[in-house]
Amino acid sequence: MDFPKLFTVGPVYVRDEVREEMGRQMFSHRSSEYVDLHSGVIPKIQKLLFTKKPTFIYPSSATGIWESCARNVVEKKALSCVNGAFSKRFGKVIEANGKQVEVLEKPMGQPILPEELDTALSKSDADSVSIVHNETSTGVMNPLKELIKVCNDHDVVSMVDVVSSVAGAPIYVDKWGIDVCLFSVQKCLAVPPGLACASISERVLERSERAKNKGYYFDMKLLEKYHLKNNTPATPPIPQIFALSKALDLIFEEGLENVWARHKRVSDFVKKRCTEDMGFTLFPDPEYASQTLSCISTKEKGINAKELLAKMKAKGYIVGSGYGELKETTFRVGNMGNVYMGDVEEMLDVMQEVLGSF
Ligand code: PLP
Repeated sequence: MDFPKLFTVGPVYVRDEVREEMGRQMFSHRSSEYVDLHSGVIPKIQKLLFTKKPTFIYPSSATGIWESCARNVVEKKALSCVNGAFSKRFGKVIEANGKQVEVLEKPMGQPILPEELDTALSKSDADSVSIVHNETSTGVMNPLKELIKVCNDHDVVSMVDVVSSVAGAPIYVDKWGIDVCLFSVQKCLAVPPGLACASISERVLERSERAKNKGYYFDMKLLEKYHLKNNTPATPPIPQIFALSKALDLIFEEGLENVWARHKRVSDFVKKRCTEDMGFTLFPDPEYASQTLSCISTKEKGINAKELLAKMKAKGYIVGSGYGELKETTFRVGNMGNVYMGDVEEMLDVMQEVLGSF
């Protein structure tokens, strides 16, 4: 890894082989070269998600797919599962697109539990549920498989954001029965930002067919029409697609299960060092702590997280800051993408040394 070394929570460090793919000469997206690129990358994304469902490339970040869900999937009302800043924003985006939103809210750092979703859905007339698998703001990984089962038991459509977990933790779209599984590429896939993808179920496409006022750019039926021709309705971000294709090759070369296991191993190590050796506290409920980032609370030790990160930056290590109201009291060590044990060992040794100056 080059200096400064990145332990961010996205965008993250991008390998040279992946960055170089973005420097290729361009061609028209209506050319046979583009069809080859598109038809090559879609099966790789499907392999990543363990799905045979239609999978689309969106010329936007993940927020664009939230908008697409709001307009194509939610018929009248969504139940929004909220336990941090991103899950809250997903609900806000649905509301901003004119749909009703009911909220199931847990305190920051706590997971959304299946029994809580079950109770909420029993009393609700929502036709869709928004879930963020890995709440990047607090480092909580929600029990996705179990939450999806509850959605399917209630016959409501699931819209699942796997932005900061995909390629870093297991996600089985078809086996678990996820309707919309969406992500952008700048986290564990370690691709420069500007591209997002989603797998879409048949019942979601039926909803899109019926949807009124769904706009044009994020119309799922239109995306499907072009998907069937290995193309996209508008000009796609070709450099990012090249980069994503390469990043996926590298992941499959290492072995997807090995990549998940590496994320878990590295993240467990960060948590252990930060708590046992440095005396910090893990912010989320440990049973539901993320394996792609560690949200560490500095409050109990009376240390200002912003000051600590400034000192780390001066030493050449960029660690993710706390999110929003947690900026002064937490920091987030990202281990997304190509972060290895040796990298975190080195960074944590420096952090331990820096702590001596407080
Ligand atoms: N969802 C989660 C869990 C995130 O962490 C983020 C960004 O950090 C987003 C959604 C927003 O994604 P994007 O910036 O790709 O629109």
